Amino acid sequence: VYVVRIAPLAGPTTEPLWLLTFRDVSHARRIDRMRSDFIANASHELRTPLASLRGFIETLQGPAKNDVKAHERFLVIMHEQATRMSRLVDDLLSLSRLELRSNLAPEQTVDLAPLLGHVRDSLQPLASDLGVEINLDLPKHPVLVPGDRDELVEVFENLIENACKYGQEGKRVDVVLSGGGDTPVEFSVTDYGPGIPPEHVPRITERFYRVNVEASRSKKGTGLGLAIVKHILTRHRARLVVKSEVGKGTVFTVKF
Ligand code: ADP
Repeated sequence: VYVVRIAPLAGPTTEPLWLLTFRDVSHARRIDRMRSDFIANASHELRTPLASLRGFIETLQGPAKNDVKAHERFLVIMHEQATRMSRLVDDLLSLSRLELRSNLAPEQTVDLAPLLGHVRDSLQPLASDLGVEINLDLPKHPVLVPGDRDELVEVFENLIENACKYGQEGKRVDVVLSGGGDTPVEFSVTDYGPGIPPEHVPRITERFYRVNVEASRSKKGTGLGLAIVKHILTRHRARLVVKSEVGKGTVFTVKF
């Protein structure tokens, strides 16, 4: 997309001279478009639980005013909807904080081995609920990377949580950390679930992109997890590689 300007140019001759300038605004247009898509998506995601909350409140004020059983049932659903909105707002804030900080270099040095032990412990209740076993294979030596501890926790939590949620049928998730010292550090998480069809793989780190919207919602997803992961890894100069085979499972690898 070009913006073209024509301006008269005073010259030494009597012939009229014109200056024609072309400015390429494609990139700016694309950014504008992405911004408005993002706002539309975020508003839509918030509007759905809000509409549901309003509906239940109106029912409780009206037809179900004196129905104690309905009160109990509706309050549980209303609580779930409010929790969903909080999760979404938390993820949106995380993303916008990351965008503001996107050029800062990570300042601490983090030992990934114990950190992954903590992440596994924090995900244990979810894994137990889903009947999934998380196997950790960690080196005995420290695995140091320059980075921000809290951000790296967010990366590993997101990836391992996704493997537990979406790879559920496999009942097993393998987490491997390797390298350190002179060799490159690599983290991988493997699940044995349904996998991701190849046409979706390049897009799963886009904001709000889901392979199956209903499956994501029912698994308490916001569609922002992998977008956050990608942002954090870029800040850490690390790369995310996704290998998936339909019917066999998925491996997410982080190469530091
Ligand atoms: P969500 O909050 O929906 O989980 P994410 O950004 O974390 O959002 O993931 C985007 C989408 O990628 C998910 O909705 C899901 O469809 C797909 N996905 C992520 N991890 C896996 C996995 N391990 N196996 C299959 N699909 C996955």
